[in-house]
Amino acid sequence: MTITNKNMPHCVSVLIPLALPGPYDYQVPDGLTVEPGSYVVVPLGPQELVGVVWGVGQAEIAASRIKPLREVLDVPVMPEVLRRFVDWVAQYTVNPPGSVLRLAMRVPGALEPARMRIAYRLTDARPARMTPARERVVAVAGDGFARTIREMADESGVSDGVVRGLVEAGTLRPVELPAEAAFEVPDWRTKGPALSEEQTEAAERLRAVVAKGGFASLLLDGVTGSGKTEVYFEAVAEALAQGRQALILLPEIALTSQFLTRFEKRFGILPAEWHSELSTRERRRVWRGVANGEARVVVGARSALFLPFPELGLIVVDEEHEAAFKQEDGVSYHARDMSVVRASLGQFPVILSSATPSLETSVNADQGRYERLVLRERHGVALMPSIEAIDMRAYPPERGQWLSPLLVKEMVAAMAAGEQSMLFLNRRGYAPLTLCRTCGHRIECPQCSAWLVEHRFRRELACHHCGYTAPVPKACPSCGAEDSLVACGPGVERIAEEVASLFPEARISLLSSDNLRGPASHRAAFEAIEAREIDIIIGTQIVAKGHHFPWLTVVGVVDADLGLENGDLRAAERTFQLLQQVAGRAGRADRPGRVFLQTYMPEHSVMQALVAGKRDAFLDREAAARERLSLPPFGRLVGVVVSSADAGLAQRTAREMARRVPAADNVTVLGPAPAPLALLRGRTRLRFLVKAERNVNVQAFTQAWLAEMKLPNAVRVSVDIDPYSFL
Ligand code: ADP
Ligand code: ZN
Repeated sequence: MTITNKNMPHCVSVLIPLALPGPYDYQVPDGLTVEPGSYVVVPLGPQELVGVVWGVGQAEIAASRIKPLREVLDVPVMPEVLRRFVDWVAQYTVNPPGSVLRLAMRVPGALEPARMRIAYRLTDARPARMTPARERVVAVAGDGFARTIREMADESGVSDGVVRGLVEAGTLRPVELPAEAAFEVPDWRTKGPALSEEQTEAAERLRAVVAKGGFASLLLDGVTGSGKTEVYFEAVAEALAQGRQALILLPEIALTSQFLTRFEKRFGILPAEWHSELSTRERRRVWRGVANGEARVVVGARSALFLPFPELGLIVVDEEHEAAFKQEDGVSYHARDMSVVRASLGQFPVILSSATPSLETSVNADQGRYERLVLRERHGVALMPSIEAIDMRAYPPERGQWLSPLLVKEMVAAMAAGEQSMLFLNRRGYAPLTLCRTCGHRIECPQCSAWLVEHRFRRELACHHCGYTAPVPKACPSCGAEDSLVACGPGVERIAEEVASLFPEARISLLSSDNLRGPASHRAAFEAIEAREIDIIIGTQIVAKGHHFPWLTVVGVVDADLGLENGDLRAAERTFQLLQQVAGRAGRADRPGRVFLQTYMPEHSVMQALVAGKRDAFLDREAAARERLSLPPFGRLVGVVVSSADAGLAQRTAREMARRVPAADNVTVLGPAPAPLALLRGRTRLRFLVKAERNVNVQAFTQAWLAEMKLPNAVRVSVDIDPYSFL
């Protein structure tokens, strides 16, 4: 595989992690050896950048004009599968390959030489003069381990000077050690918990598929609390036994200490983590550990898919239905779909796990493309919770309140029984809208077409789209009327206020991303709940996922209709999934759970399906409706957003694009229309929606269309293949 100057005298092509049309050619100077995947330093204009050798040079320009590359970095080469994956994702998402390469290289410092630290080891030489302090150091160092001067001094209870003296005397000898802690190897040999019959059946099948190797996609379809995690841990153990690395993808929000602790219980060590909260140092350590094969299992958010695993042999996508796997900014890709691609390129299995599979996955399973493994029962004595709808028209809350008396009664009963209850509302802050009673003015973000959300604890109004904040004004900014502004609608903070007044003696925990900053505060909050120091939990979607609270028996969904308001194609599916997941938090141990959905439309098909526990019938109906309309997964969609800080320019460009839509069979282009978020961070946004039959190559269509356009610099066009957001 090595490309040397001998068999390739001219050049190599190097992909640079920038939005360039493709790789560029560089000469390999005498004395340097590169191979495909080598990380190399190359000149580009006035800069020097790190790129990756992508292949043999095209030599399209005169050899004399091709610049030499500067340096080959001492980093394990980027594996071939990852390089093919980068190209594949670039093609599929209609992005320059360099932009996708960035996802695989965006780790500050990872490519620099590994830093070393100096430590000291005992030799046979003894100093001419022995003191009691020196004796202590020699005794400590006698175990043969290398220590830094600081460590040696601390452990021996002497000053640094004493240790230095021994170094000078030759009693301690310097050695170089890696600056970072090594990765421990997970222990796959110890047995996991005794599995139930259906768990065993699923686990054995997974083990067999992993042991056999080769591409396979499987859906682990099990009700909440059925032990899906324990089951796929068996597949992870098998991958490790086969000498392969494994990747477990979780939605960022589900990457909790609870999950890591479970992994540790099963495999004896904590896995390597990969998510946005990691420090730069830790990212660097994990990236290198993955690249050199030391990190055997990574538990990570979607971007972990681009880590340079040399021996990846399994991907698990837990909570595969989660919209959080869809990356919206920059290169927009769906980590679940791309996991399947990566597994297929690498010829290994991928396991998608969910209690509420996405329609896409469920159709794939129905059509036999994915193998479905089913877990019907909760583990142990736990039963599935009962779900009831509360008709808010018949049992409305008191004026100015949000909880129906029926729900409050159940919470009272739970508290009396020493059990916990949880209220779920997927809305941060105190109130989603501030309105002037005098003139009707609604306070909006100056940079976005969105209302500002009141955050009462922080005493400010905030935009949830761009992060703009402002103090809550005393007078209406439009008419000047004083004391005329009213908060409309509830957020979790407002529900917490109501609960505090209804249950003055209750211990309440409010869980939203505004209150929980960082993993430590997450852990503290969840530990307090597990330790029964909390009676009532109020939370946003943070509480919907994956947690296991044995004493939680009553779950109330404050506004079950919330997700149905936005009219996108997945509104019903997503509401069903979210509410089913929330419901799944109740009654996970020996106490039965009850779930109450506050709704103004109890007759809606989503509520009916939840109450009757008819998931499959609901999915079948949704699938039939989508098929009739040729919507995904039966047809293809591409979102194209044109935006500019100059509103007129955005509109003119969009109109021009509309005129240049290429003619194609089975493709319709809708728009341009103002996006629902017509203004975002000060940019005016217009949307097109490309709607095509399933067999259409929408990438080629989109590329041909955009190639027609000479875009002004101040305009940005972003392409979203298989969009999930229609804002
Ligand atoms: P799911 O991911 O399907 O919601 P989990 O894997 O979180 O389910 O399992 C629910 C709970 O039951 C967890 O606390 C888990 O440790 C426990 N559990 C599941 N299966 C077993 C088993 N076979 N033996 C012991 N505990 C189990
Ligand atoms: Zn804003």
